Amino acid sequence: MIGYALYGPDNDSHFGDDASPESRCPACGYIFDRTYISPTLKIRRRVYDFSHTYDYGHIVSRKFAEFCIRASYDELTLEPLEADPEFLLLSVASPPVPFNHARRGTRFEDQCSACGVFESVVGANPIFLNVSGLERDDGFFRTDLEFGSGNGKSPLIIVGPATKERLEKERFTGLTFEPVEGAF
Ligand SMILES: [Zn+2]
Repeated sequence: MIGYALYGPDNDSHFGDDASPESRCPACGYIFDRTYISPTLKIRRRVYDFSHTYDYGHIVSRKFAEFCIRASYDELTLEPLEADPEFLLLSVASPPVPFNHARRGTRFEDQCSACGVFESVVGANPIFLNVSGLERDDGFFRTDLEFGSGNGKSPLIIVGPATKERLEKERFTGLTFEPVEGAF
C-alpha cells in the first residue's frame, strides 16, 4: 500500500470570511494565501481531533498536534489559532506529491481569466498519485492539487502506512483513512 488520505468531518467554521479584498482575486474572490486565518476564528464544532473548515483548512486538536511533535513529523507546520489556541492549522511544508488527474479523470471547471484558478476541481477519489511510492513509510505529504470549489478547496493530506498505524493507535476522533489506489 502506497499510503492513505486523511479525512475528517467539517467543524462548522470558516478561515477566510473576513479576508481583505486585497488578498483575494478581484474577479472570483479566491483567497491567495491558503494559510490565512481570521484572527477571531473560534472552532464551532469542537469534538474532533481532526476536522476541516468549510473553506481551505485542516484543523487538529492540541492532542493531535502534541502527538505529531512527539513523533518528530518535522514536515508539518502546526499553527495555533490566535483566538482559539486549543486548535491548530495543520499544513505540510514539504514539496507536494503530484496527483494523477488524468488517470482519475479529475474535472477542472470554470477557470478564472484573472487569476487562473478553477472554480471547481472535482474528482479526488479514488486516489491516484503520479509517483510509484512515497518518500517514506512514516510521514505526512500533501497533493499538488486542491480539490473542491470556490474557496472551499484544499489538498489531500496523505500519510504513509506506518503513520496510519501510529495514528490509529491514538484513537483520534473524526479521523478516517482512504487508501491511495495506485499510481500511473
Ligand atoms: Zn480569480
